[in-house]
Amino acid sequence: MKAKKKTTIKSQRAQKELTDKDLMRFEAQLLKLKQQILKQKQYVDGIVLTPQGEAGAEVSSYRTHVADVGNEVYQREVISQISSYDAKILRQIDEALKRIREKNYGICVGCQKPIAKARLKALPYTDLCIECSKKLG
Ligand SMILES: [Zn+2]
Repeated sequence: MKAKKKTTIKSQRAQKELTDKDLMRFEAQLLKLKQQILKQKQYVDGIVLTPQGEAGAEVSSYRTHVADVGNEVYQREVISQISSYDAKILRQIDEALKRIREKNYGICVGCQKPIAKARLKALPYTDLCIECSKKLG
């Protein structure tokens, strides 16, 4: 049996709390969110593309389909909320994704301090810590 080498990542980046795993998770979360918003945006804009393949793939992607139903309910709920914010959030998501690539994700643009992980979990696209958010909000 091979002993697993534990790689200790000495973070030279300012963000000390977030591991690469965290970043990957946030990235996945952001991409998913982006997809959802784009989908909703199309919905809202009335340019909903015919969900091609959905009917045909129904059998093969049964599980996915079931998951989508739950998602759809959720999406419907947020449509009204996102319509006026979607552009802003999409921009924030893109910026957050860029920050992940540039390894400075999770740093508050207001005070340059790390944003609490719990806050990032709730709002993965935020670029402000709770304090700055309060100040500016
Ligand atoms: Zn701040």
